[in-house]
Amino acid sequence: MEGRKPDITGTSPSDIAARLNSRYGNLNARSSRDVTVIGHKRNPFLAMPQTEMEKQVEREVQEKMEKEMAERQKRKKNTYLEGRLELSAKMELLTMNKENSPDLKTPKRCICKRPSKSFKCGGCLKFFKGRIADTCPRHPTETFLMDFRMCPYCSGPVDMIKQQDQEEA
Ligand SMILES: [Zn+2]
Ligand SMILES: [Zn+2]
Repeated sequence: MEGRKPDITGTSPSDIAARLNSRYGNLNARSSRDVTVIGHKRNPFLAMPQTEMEKQVEREVQEKMEKEMAERQKRKKNTYLEGRLELSAKMELLTMNKENSPDLKTPKRCICKRPSKSFKCGGCLKFFKGRIADTCPRHPTETFLMDFRMCPYCSGPVDMIKQQDQEEA
């Protein structure tokens, strides 16, 4: 960094920035409309005639500034839009998950054709294969005579019967 103090009448970028800063307030405003002009009458610099080159450079700097502001605005709008899109995508996913979740979507899932499994009675410790009787949510009147309503060995209640691991099935 150079130690030189910006010269308000110079033409280097920092000089011009210093000049702009002396003339305008709120240079970081979102819109160029919000940039305020300060000390219009009292600023001695304004009384000085500007060279063509100075005017040109200052115009360029100002243009660049406005461009950057417009760019910033655009970016902001984009992130807002992106945010909205992301949100709607998330909502969609959420709805999809809801529809796929067995609790909410398929209260009427048919269990009539469920396969036989291996079971072990907790009372008599005997193993057997088949299905434990259950009411199908979609066909509540359907009954399957072969389904067990109790332990086939000791007639113990079904809540004592535990399903065995898959590999034994
Ligand atoms: Zn069914
Ligand atoms: Zn039993």
